[in-house]
Amino acid sequence: MNPRTASDFPQNMADWHDETRVLHGDAGLSPDAALVPPIHYSATFKASDAKAFAEMANTPRHSGFYTRYGNPTHEHAAALLAQLEGTETALLTASGMAAISTTVLALVAAGDHVIAQGRHYMSTTKLFEEVLVRFGIEVSIVEQSDTEAFRQALRPNTKLIMVESPVNPTLVLTDLAAVAALARPRGILTLADNTFASPLNQRPHALGIDIVLHSATKYMGGHHDLTAGAVCCSDELAEKIWRMHVTLGAVLSPMDAWLLLRGLRTLPLRIERINANALALAQWLEQQPQVERVYYPGLESHPQHALARRQMRGFGAVIAFAVRGGFDATSRFVASLNIATHAVSLGGVDSLIVHTAAMWAGTMSEAQMVTAGIAPNFVRMSVGIEHIDDLKADMARALEKL
Ligand SMILES: *Cc1c(COP(=O)(O)O)cnc(C)c1O
Repeated sequence: MNPRTASDFPQNMADWHDETRVLHGDAGLSPDAALVPPIHYSATFKASDAKAFAEMANTPRHSGFYTRYGNPTHEHAAALLAQLEGTETALLTASGMAAISTTVLALVAAGDHVIAQGRHYMSTTKLFEEVLVRFGIEVSIVEQSDTEAFRQALRPNTKLIMVESPVNPTLVLTDLAAVAALARPRGILTLADNTFASPLNQRPHALGIDIVLHSATKYMGGHHDLTAGAVCCSDELAEKIWRMHVTLGAVLSPMDAWLLLRGLRTLPLRIERINANALALAQWLEQQPQVERVYYPGLESHPQHALARRQMRGFGAVIAFAVRGGFDATSRFVASLNIATHAVSLGGVDSLIVHTAAMWAGTMSEAQMVTAGIAPNFVRMSVGIEHIDDLKADMARALEKL
């Protein structure tokens, strides 16, 4: 099978809303009558003759040659992701980090300069600050909330700018349109990790960003049961990134691509509930005497709330807050919750909570954590689709014990 073109899809698709797209946007990709696409659990694919074999081997992004090159099951979820992000195409990878590292490595070479944020997903920070520098790439780190800092970091050899918004742990935002406007006239590529927002809440490509990256492990899969990544961009960039992907080999399994597709069918529905629950819970937490401070882009108290309203349609699952008390009180609070589970990750159907300092306990003393900026009473929560009254009641009970 060759990469799909617009004519493979229904004609009126351009007018569809997200809810319809995620259900029917991959229509035409399944050749048989099964309502649900099959899982193509095959590492390799047969050729009918020598001519077909040569074509399979030499067509970029062919999805029926060898699974490291592409797989028909991938095409379904990729088609939906491209439509949601408003990009020409999407490429799936084995994890979010595979999407980020494969993309960056496909685009830079020794002697290039790249700009990244002071705060990123931790492994992204390592990629920029520890890996790229080993290969002769110059890296500048800037404060993401200061657009002027991006401008000042520009050099004649700047090749790409990596942004991420909102970002862990205090949900600081980057002005995506402003960074894109700096980069595009200079021919600098922009990459945005859109994991924390999801395409339902934020469309970086519509704001001028070239490549949108995702950990599909989070909202897209949505059930905490798979690891996957996505690169959403133009056909031209995707072909370049795909060549690196074939070389690095972080391939998504057909089973996980199928689970991802299943997750995507309900993405708009889940995000709608998640957005509503998270905002309601954040507003409620702000009123609680045992809570010192709440961080959420949807709150008027967020220092970049105006920017959030400008570039986001909803504010996502992740809220962070500091409770009144030290490490032990915070540990007891998290442990006494009956609904939110103490686990990393975000964007799934059930609520998860992380006591950040507890992750580092055993490696750092409380004093060391304070020096490192990890407040002992800081918690991050990914709000799920449970009933809001149950979430509040469970929190209220745990807060009272503080
Ligand atoms: C989880 C996450 C990643 C990494 O994704 P994996 O699927 O775990 O590899 C990258 N960026 C952000 C913002 C994330 O939350």
